[in-house]
Amino acid sequence: MDLRERTASLMGQARAELAELVAIPSVADPRQFPPEECARAARWVRDAFAGAGFADAWLAEMSDGSQAVLGSRRCADPDAATVLLYAHYDVQPPLNEAEWRTPPFELTEVAGRWHGRGAADCKGNIVMHLAALRALGDELPVHLKVVVEGSEETTGALEEFVPGHADLLRADAILVCDAGNAAVGHPAVTTSLRGVADVIVEVEALASELHSGKFGGAAPDALAALVAMLATLRDARGNTTVRGLDNTQVWPGAAYPAETFRADAGVLEGVSLLGDGGVADMVWSRPAVTSLGIDCPPVVGSAPAITPRAFTTLASAAPRVVGGAPANPPGARARLNLRVPPGTQIRGAAEALVHHLHAVAPWGVRVAAEIEAPGPPFQARTGGPAYQAIAAAMQEAYGRPMVTLGDGGSIPLCTVLADTYPDAELILMGVEEPLALIHSPNESVDPTEIAAMALTEALFLQRYAAIRS
Ligand SMILES: [Zn+2]
Repeated sequence: MDLRERTASLMGQARAELAELVAIPSVADPRQFPPEECARAARWVRDAFAGAGFADAWLAEMSDGSQAVLGSRRCADPDAATVLLYAHYDVQPPLNEAEWRTPPFELTEVAGRWHGRGAADCKGNIVMHLAALRALGDELPVHLKVVVEGSEETTGALEEFVPGHADLLRADAILVCDAGNAAVGHPAVTTSLRGVADVIVEVEALASELHSGKFGGAAPDALAALVAMLATLRDARGNTTVRGLDNTQVWPGAAYPAETFRADAGVLEGVSLLGDGGVADMVWSRPAVTSLGIDCPPVVGSAPAITPRAFTTLASAAPRVVGGAPANPPGARARLNLRVPPGTQIRGAAEALVHHLHAVAPWGVRVAAEIEAPGPPFQARTGGPAYQAIAAAMQEAYGRPMVTLGDGGSIPLCTVLADTYPDAELILMGVEEPLALIHSPNESVDPTEIAAMALTEALFLQRYAAIRS
């Protein structure tokens, strides 16, 4: 049997394993699911990789109490290259269970796709790794390391662990398998990720609430000021317009067709896409600001009063309690989410957003802003032997050429890995194509992607060794 036939013959086992993994609700949040579920998933993954030749597979304790599965497997040639395989076993919560058409923690086939929370993100990538390793069997031409973390969707504690344990995970090439193709059957690697930061902005205009009849018209209104400020963050065509931030970049790789994006994003008929650029420019190469939340008096229970200011302190103020029930919050504040492309410093961009908000605030209202959790953008280096090998492997596995994609989201671990191992080549790939609906109800994976990507991975390991030697 050749590699393709061997991979195909392993799909029954892959399905059985994915069903076992999906049945473990490994949500890394003890407020939602017992931590024992994550511990079970960790042991499952450790045992599976131990069975795939990682005899030393073990559980490493992270600072947040989660466990990452680590392991290594040596090949016969001491001078061979080392490849690190990455995935995560924790999953997003099911969210709105009523929207699931199948039980979230029971792998269920619907129209050829396997449905369940984590079926693609990222348990599908775990079974992909296992299928690739089994297809290769003893013909392993490189040294391997593996890390499967358990709190990627929450704290990302592995990011903190890596720099202090650099030798454990050191490799020449790193397969970060928490991404996917542009579409089923169209092979791709993701080479660009946007950076991210949140900015919380508050507005203050008056010493206290005022009657909107007696004072409305002349008294400045904190909520109206905030709305006016937020409105300046986009122009009429939807381009993001933060002063000092370039918004004209162009994506150099494969296009993201507008019709595909409309379907992927569920944009309603008659509603326009934003911006002057193509979709790939807008979501991969240009900055974006999204209002994640706004605090202001809710409609139910609102009184004829003018909103004077924000809560008394940034981020942490609890609603006042009047007569046993929380009173309407008397203020106006917003959390803004800023995304920036590679080539833009996230800290400087977040500061530009803060300056912008101060500069556009009307009527001399007081503005306070705070930057939260900046994470830098990521740009893969694509000129090395690992990229040569993955392009050849994808061409052979899929019968068509690999393209490079961006992702508007952020994977802070990629930046940590790139900083810790500046000579390593990072390749982002996997089984999470757009139809997988990761993080949403009705997540699913296409089994043909698991088979083709497992074959890709096996071919990559062979070709990478050949190119390097
Ligand atoms: Zn993931």
